[in-house]
Amino acid sequence: MQFTNSIRAFEAASRVIPGGVDSPVRAFGGVGGTPPFIKEAKGAFMTDIDGNRYIDFVQSWGPLILGHANEVIEEAVIKAVKKGLSYGAPTEVETELAASICGLFDTIDKVRFVSSGTEAVMSAIRLARGFTCKHDIIKFEGCYHGHSDALLVKAGSGAVTFGNPSSPGVPEGTTKHTLLARYNDLESVRACFEASEGVACVIVEPIAGNMGFVPSSPEFLEGLRTLCDTYGALLIFDEVMSGFRASLRGAQGVFATRPDMVTFGKVIGGGMPVGAFGARAEIMAMLSPEGPVYQAGTLSGNPIAMNAGLASLGEIIRKEASLYPRLKELAQRLTVGLEAAARANGIPLQTGFCGSMFGFFFNENPVRNFDEALRSDTKRFAAFHRGMLERGVYFACSQFEAGFICEPMDEAMIDTVIAHAHEVMKTL
Ligand SMILES: *Cc1c(COP(=O)(O)O)cnc(C)c1O
Repeated sequence: MQFTNSIRAFEAASRVIPGGVDSPVRAFGGVGGTPPFIKEAKGAFMTDIDGNRYIDFVQSWGPLILGHANEVIEEAVIKAVKKGLSYGAPTEVETELAASICGLFDTIDKVRFVSSGTEAVMSAIRLARGFTCKHDIIKFEGCYHGHSDALLVKAGSGAVTFGNPSSPGVPEGTTKHTLLARYNDLESVRACFEASEGVACVIVEPIAGNMGFVPSSPEFLEGLRTLCDTYGALLIFDEVMSGFRASLRGAQGVFATRPDMVTFGKVIGGGMPVGAFGARAEIMAMLSPEGPVYQAGTLSGNPIAMNAGLASLGEIIRKEASLYPRLKELAQRLTVGLEAAARANGIPLQTGFCGSMFGFFFNENPVRNFDEALRSDTKRFAAFHRGMLERGVYFACSQFEAGFICEPMDEAMIDTVIAHAHEVMKTL
């Protein structure tokens, strides 16, 4: 496989864009080499500017559950484009998309649309603080909630540490209200509550995908619910990734635990920039202009993006009864196959899946939290990633990312990928 054009394109990009990319995860820093520059994509496949074709398990980092260039979404977008790109005034399509989301969740009476997952989460946290009149937030090591200051806190190893900024440019004062706990470890959460003078909210990826794929245990989520109720804090499920992915109702379709607030992104926009946060009416009533907590956006609820989201969700819901079980079967087929390929070559591999999300760690032991994820063999992952890429399989370029199945994939495609994995595992 040749990457000549991509290498040249990356050099050109690096002269005018920091690191050559507009989001760091795209840069292949964890696996080496230059990222393929993409020319076009359709269904399960992407083609780069050297003409290499890949089956894509990244799917734009989650949004494209119906695959690339889905015709229904495409049509909706083109129709909307012809009526103007943005008005800065209300449209009926926003109400339609909001109503379809509220109709799916008994925990959500109202939603507010924004333009990214980052915005959804930072706004949800402001609202939680406004509603509870408390300041502290509890987040988990290894969970990602976007790049806003207060949430960009490094995973420390202590169970109860006040967070340190994980990026220069984030003043310590900004993160002093962010408490860090360990995923799937209720004692560490309890300790945070005890150390705090007032916790506004606990925010969690109920099915984590940003330290690799690491699901919660049901007891963990239920324990969070109990602790939040005991201390009068709100429980926020950050379902920017798992929403409409793990199941039609995200984690709420998988676990019995109910959150107070939910954040969405990725799938909700069908490939366009959309985020949203929702909660029961009493909480959402605090939000401007109904209430005093300010939140705004020039392009929020953008008509093109709303039409893409509505077409995408409409498609998903229309296919719901068959779609999620089928995606789950493919995820299972893939992870079972990868595990068998590893085992045949004496390589320890931990795999998991939930709905259309999956993941694998080159790790001797099961992974339940960030510390355990960090014990994975990243060198081996990098070699595996490179071998698969050269055979036309596009996995996320980091050991600490999840993978995604999309609707146009089928069993034959998965079996081809597994056959490639057998070859590559032999070389590790
Ligand atoms: C991707 C992601 C975000 C951030 O969303 P952006 O649209 O990239 O700003 C927040 N939370 C979770 C769980 C995510 O996976």
